[in-house]
Amino acid sequence: MERMNKKIFSDADEDISSFSASCLFCGSDHIFPGDNFRVSGQALMEQLAHTKNIGSDTSGNSDQHRLSTDPLFGPSRGKMFGVMECRAADGSTLFFKAFSGQFNGLWLVEGWAPPLFDVDEWTRVNAGPELAIKTLGAEIKACHDDHERGKRLQQERKKLSRKLMKDLHALYRLTNFRGQTLSLTDLLSERTGIPTGTGDCCAPKLLNFAATNNLVPTGISEFYWGLENKSADRQHRHFYPPCAEKCRPILGFMLCGLDELYAPQRL
Ligand SMILES: [Zn+2]
Ligand SMILES: [Zn+2]
Repeated sequence: MERMNKKIFSDADEDISSFSASCLFCGSDHIFPGDNFRVSGQALMEQLAHTKNIGSDTSGNSDQHRLSTDPLFGPSRGKMFGVMECRAADGSTLFFKAFSGQFNGLWLVEGWAPPLFDVDEWTRVNAGPELAIKTLGAEIKACHDDHERGKRLQQERKKLSRKLMKDLHALYRLTNFRGQTLSLTDLLSERTGIPTGTGDCCAPKLLNFAATNNLVPTGISEFYWGLENKSADRQHRHFYPPCAEKCRPILGFMLCGLDELYAPQRL
């Protein structure tokens, strides 16, 4: 486990096929049986470089501005993008893509894999507590000299944040290639901690989309686009395997059953 961790963090252009994760459901290690699909990753890079936008509409409607990739090169820095090649039930080959987390505050962008939860439900659950947490933040800033009150408010904010995270994690639905679906809270223990952003990376979005649409993934690649991240371990135009911190704990379960879908094709 320790060795794999280091490997994932040190090699910039690591191959995804070397990625394995233990499955919390069946107990065995699952690897992604497909290819590292860099050709399509590179094609998406060229598209982003050319359009500087993630929208599919080139006629310049109002949303286009919100879908500009310019902010990825500013203070908010870059993000991960992913491409997946899939085999459909009729034998045809399909491609689809994903961005990690939200894009400029948007969870849903046409032509991109959706997140692992119902966005309306997420917005409803998030709205109230998020506002309360922001209000508490402002109150904490305002009580400079009243340390007692500041401390109490900080604790209150921490408690609210934890509760919100727990409620949001319960909304994630992870489906594997056996057709089993679990929430993040079913799969991981809140007690040992679920890192912020778990389930929001490209690989889980792509795999979940494939599993829920009866598609067999045959290739995947993920690359970073934009200004390097603060710790400088993510560089513009570099490919990376799924991250160890957020993805490894869930990808074992998400890959469960996939190798069996490959077997008939390989005989
Ligand atoms: Zn990840
Ligand atoms: Zn399994």
